[in-house]
Amino acid sequence: MKTSVLEQLYGQTPTVDDIIRETIVSDNCEDAFYVVDIQDILRKHKNWLLKMPRVQPFYAVKCNSTPIVLELLASLGIGFDCASKAEIDSILSLGISPKNIIYANPCKTKSFIKHAADVGVDVMTFDNELELYKVAQLHPNARMVLRIKVDDSHSVCRLGLKFGADIERAHHLLQTAKNIGVNIIGCSFHVGSGCESSDAYTEAISNAKYVFELGRELGFDMTFLDIGGGFPGTSITKVTFDETAKAVNEALDLHFPATDEFGNHSNITIIAEPGRYYVASAFTLATNIIAKRAVPMEDQQIAMMYYLNDGVYGSFNCTIFDHWEVHPIPFHFENCDDGLQLRQNHLTTIWGPTCDSMDCIKRDIVLPELHIGEWIIFREMGAYTIAAGSTFNGFKMPSLQYHVPSYTLEMLQKLPNWSRISQILDINGEESTPMDSFDADHCLEIIPVH
Ligand code: PLP
Repeated sequence: MKTSVLEQLYGQTPTVDDIIRETIVSDNCEDAFYVVDIQDILRKHKNWLLKMPRVQPFYAVKCNSTPIVLELLASLGIGFDCASKAEIDSILSLGISPKNIIYANPCKTKSFIKHAADVGVDVMTFDNELELYKVAQLHPNARMVLRIKVDDSHSVCRLGLKFGADIERAHHLLQTAKNIGVNIIGCSFHVGSGCESSDAYTEAISNAKYVFELGRELGFDMTFLDIGGGFPGTSITKVTFDETAKAVNEALDLHFPATDEFGNHSNITIIAEPGRYYVASAFTLATNIIAKRAVPMEDQQIAMMYYLNDGVYGSFNCTIFDHWEVHPIPFHFENCDDGLQLRQNHLTTIWGPTCDSMDCIKRDIVLPELHIGEWIIFREMGAYTIAAGSTFNGFKMPSLQYHVPSYTLEMLQKLPNWSRISQILDINGEESTPMDSFDADHCLEIIPVH
């Protein structure tokens, strides 16, 4: 593993950029690769526990299901939001209890519902009547959560077009469940992915409270609130995670207080389904310029086109499906003869490697002139990138390099699933004293939040 070697070399913890530099030089590589900052994922979890202690995270597997992410989050004791049979099976294979899985796809394949029943995944979401009939027939032990439609107008990826029951339909749906004997335990919503307003959560939690009241009137034991995903995961966002957490905590205290007026503790389980929050900032993508074209323009200027070895059919599918704005950063080697700032700037378009002209990563930005073989990096590329990438035209997805400072490594070595983590990190043979169960407070003590 490079980090420990570099630590000995530099006498201090290397940065992600050091790992990129070292990978390029020592591996003499030209293929695109990611550097995964393990500590960043741990730091996010610690921050979640600090800022929203009443809300249990159930990581949305769809966002990034690379083995290291799933193993790490499993070891931290996090639950999982699965959308399909394959996702459920991959989480169960980590030794996660079915009780720590929510099957949070309101429209499910029949055989997948049957599978959920067979493996003991009982908590599932729904938002329409026909789904209730399927569940009544296929999963008698199901504990259903009504997903309502909430204001998603402040989100980069709106989900309300496809999912969520109008609040006016809630009574009818709960009544139907009652009539056909389906057990309802609570309410869920999703404010949309990349949510840029903390007010969206405030309003949605208030609506969920209304659904709880409807459910209780019908005799259901309403004890499960799922506040979905949408939490910011990158450094520059219109609303910060801390602001969102504050709004969530205030709304929960108002509508779902932790104790009642007699001091009795609430019996409500509150979960969320964060995806991008946990992984977006931990992944930095390094891409290589494989080809270049200079295009004369009418004003006598020269525009540049660079072709990278990862594109829209690979990691940059996020520019289409996730509506994500990516920011290319020419990667500079300090020992370069000419600093980038001395080079001429050009209007630049960046393409992916395939033969499709759809495969355009970024148009009309200004960059210093770059050369074939040089590198462009993209930070905060962990969410909805690798998850939906393909090998179209025979271009493989980038490999993963891991950044694990030695004090983080010490912590990892205590994890119950250390042997599997060490295999992924390719650091077999390191000594370890695994704990029987993970003590988050103890282990995360050394991880700085900021
Ligand atoms: N839960 C559900 C049902 C989703 O559809 C999604 C994303 O599409 C998520 C959770 C994760 O959302 P985010 O990555 O914004 O936290």
